[in-house]
Amino acid sequence: MLLMSNILFSVFNFILGAVIGSFLNVLIYRIPKNGSILKPPSHCPVCGHRLKWYDMVPIFSYIFLKGKCRYCGAKISARYPLIEALTGFAFVGVGLRYGWSLQFFEYITFSALLITVAFTDIFDGVVPDIVVIPGATMGLVFSLLRGKAIFLSSIYGMLFLFGFFVLVILITRGGMGEGDATFGAMIGAFLGFKFSVAMLVIAFIIGAIVGILLITVFKKKGEDAIPFGPYLALSAYIMVLFGYKILLFYFKLFAF
Ligand SMILES: [Zn+2]
Repeated sequence: MLLMSNILFSVFNFILGAVIGSFLNVLIYRIPKNGSILKPPSHCPVCGHRLKWYDMVPIFSYIFLKGKCRYCGAKISARYPLIEALTGFAFVGVGLRYGWSLQFFEYITFSALLITVAFTDIFDGVVPDIVVIPGATMGLVFSLLRGKAIFLSSIYGMLFLFGFFVLVILITRGGMGEGDATFGAMIGAFLGFKFSVAMLVIAFIIGAIVGILLITVFKKKGEDAIPFGPYLALSAYIMVLFGYKILLFYFKLFAF
């Protein structure tokens, strides 16, 4: 019975995530262009034809239309169904970890924010204030709901990550963007202090591994700047799912 209800809960969460993901696609596409989120209604960017609801069913429409516009046949970017599926899986992970709880709502909200910023950073190199400022506020509100100690930890997490990136920016003179600082502040608000420290370590480890792979396997040049936002987003999500295990492992290694 437990397994069955877990499966149903996960299916529900995947669908919820895919629907939210299709909204995130709109944010990711429109915010860096400073366009309105609500107007104009969704349309094909090539022929301008207005899309009907059945052209916009997350994931399925892309598959049924074989990745082409129903009206003009222009190719639709695979990023749309991929971001929908990614958001679906992210929500499933949060559901399996936290069940039906306040933290479930906190961390699906956080996941949606992480995905939005990771992809505006990848596609357009921007971390939009219009996402991270309300995002940080939501993180603080959720932590306040969980008590004063957690709220204080969120404040320290924000200050720690924001301060860290400001310091890096000052020292390296532009090695990292100010977007990393504001994105860091938002992540700190959700993760609290301890998880923020671990998140940063993991982000640098993943960044180093990917960097080495890009240079050795894909022969990229070291100067090609790679946005750091996606690494922050990925390691923040890893902390959401495995944070306690990671901290426990760390203390076992170094405590005696
Ligand atoms: Zn079209």
